[in-house]
Amino acid sequence: MSKELLRELGIDVKRFYKYYDQKLFDKMKLNEGTFFNKETFGEDRLVIEEPSRYLGPRYSHKVVEQMPIAPEARRDLIRLQETKVDYLAGLSPEQKRVKLIQKSYKDFLLQDVKMHADVVKVFQTTTHDQYAVGIDAVCAYDCAQYGFPGFAGMHLPKRRVGDDENEGEPYIFHFPDGNASIARMLVRSLAPGSAPGNSMEDIVTARMDYAALDDPASKVRIRLNSTAVHVKHVGDPNTAKEVEVTYVRGGEARRVRAASCVLACYNMVIPYLCPEMPDKQKEALAYAVKIPLVYVNVQIRNWKSFQKLGLSSIYAPGGYFSNIALDYPVSMGGYNFPASPEEPCVLHLLRTPCQPGLPCKDQYRAGRWELVTTKFDTFEHQVRDQLGRMLSAGGFDPASDIEAITVNRWPHGYAYEYNRLFEPLDRPDSERPCVIGRQPFGRITVANSDADGHAYTNIAIDQGHRAAKEIMAMRGVHTR
Ligand SMILES: Cc1cc2nc3c(=O)[nH]c(=O)nc-3n(C[C@H](O)[C@H](O)[C@H](O)COP(=O)(O)OP(=O)(O)OC[C@H]3O[C@@H](n4cnc5c(N)ncnc54)[C@H](O)[C@@H]3O)c2cc1C
Repeated sequence: MSKELLRELGIDVKRFYKYYDQKLFDKMKLNEGTFFNKETFGEDRLVIEEPSRYLGPRYSHKVVEQMPIAPEARRDLIRLQETKVDYLAGLSPEQKRVKLIQKSYKDFLLQDVKMHADVVKVFQTTTHDQYAVGIDAVCAYDCAQYGFPGFAGMHLPKRRVGDDENEGEPYIFHFPDGNASIARMLVRSLAPGSAPGNSMEDIVTARMDYAALDDPASKVRIRLNSTAVHVKHVGDPNTAKEVEVTYVRGGEARRVRAASCVLACYNMVIPYLCPEMPDKQKEALAYAVKIPLVYVNVQIRNWKSFQKLGLSSIYAPGGYFSNIALDYPVSMGGYNFPASPEEPCVLHLLRTPCQPGLPCKDQYRAGRWELVTTKFDTFEHQVRDQLGRMLSAGGFDPASDIEAITVNRWPHGYAYEYNRLFEPLDRPDSERPCVIGRQPFGRITVANSDADGHAYTNIAIDQGHRAAKEIMAMRGVHTR
């Protein structure tokens, strides 16, 4: 369904093969680096190579030799990457699978592979990008599936072909402003006149006309800055013909009535919004905890320091920001990636606040608290300090090279993805709390990516479609 919607909006994903310059960084010999900071490793040191981390971190001998870790840890790291040992010899493949799902990658490294503690420090935040927690809270089995080292001799089942329908596709399907372009195209199609143009290219620099969003003459009206605070059926939910929504706008509570309603917000707030729901459903909706994360964009005067150092991105275990990268080299619709290092460029910095050692959901709660209590000044200081220390050998000077900083905090970022280390073993998908929670209730249905426990746009679209279809069915309209 999500691909069909993209097509209907006019998004032809094949065009990204033209718009995204997959060769630029290779042509310029820019690789990935790892920055070891003195707070965690005793000294600041940047080492550079191309460990193709997304498929699992690997380091060459040359780089391992430069790492500021104990000599024994260097030997251990090479052993981890190069030897084929069955660390759970004697167990059947199924017993190994269960054991590795119930054990974190950190514990696997320390207890089974007997790695030096410094090796754990090197890998600790490699999972932040995808899980928003470190390897203390990600199961060893998932790490094996993603190609982390240590499993070559263990005869584990390979990932089945088809487990991931996008496997093998390059990571290039990216508008210059990310998925915001998809949202803008959706709005343009629903509220005529809200943005000029009609193509996936012209949306990139199009200016939205906010006045057109809530036009009484339009079939669809979008009202911004309106927080729903109470949703209830008018009468008995089993027989009611209407739903009443109370929302707050400009400090004033207002009411609207409708024949039905989709709650497409964070699922865990629904029990507060709609207390008349059955307790079992409310409990299921409250189960997940949204994942907090921060994307910081830093505009720099030029990116000559990256060129000089031979870098396109940096992994920083122990750093305030764990991943730092030049913006994606995508040019389309009048927006051009600054292909010359002399030009200003945007850097992307990732922080996923968490508290290692706690259960996964508690780490997310602690991270959200951190986001609420951290001032912009702290982010700014950390940006200047970390970029300065990482890039100084390339001539980077934070005082003159940083032109602008935008801190995007997402206290309720990714949907909770049912982390296997903390969830019942092999619970069928249909029994997950999100499935129980998303059942229609009277004239109310539930959408959002939370409703399927996967933090992806296609999931959000599919869940929205399902919820809308349920409403159509309530009204006796049959849809695909
Ligand atoms: C930083 C970041 C990067 C991501 N990158 C990718 C990516 O590269 N690829 C990908 O596929 N997915 C990505 N995702 C995930 C994807 O963006 C989400 O899965 C998708 O946006 C979820 O859509 P949604 O409609 O379910 O929820 P949301 O986009 O969270 O929308 C929910 C809306 O409900 C509103 N709301 C909440 N409570 C109320 C209330 N009481 N009253 C009124 N409104 C309310 C919120 O303000 C929000 O606008 C990313 C997410 C984040 C946070």
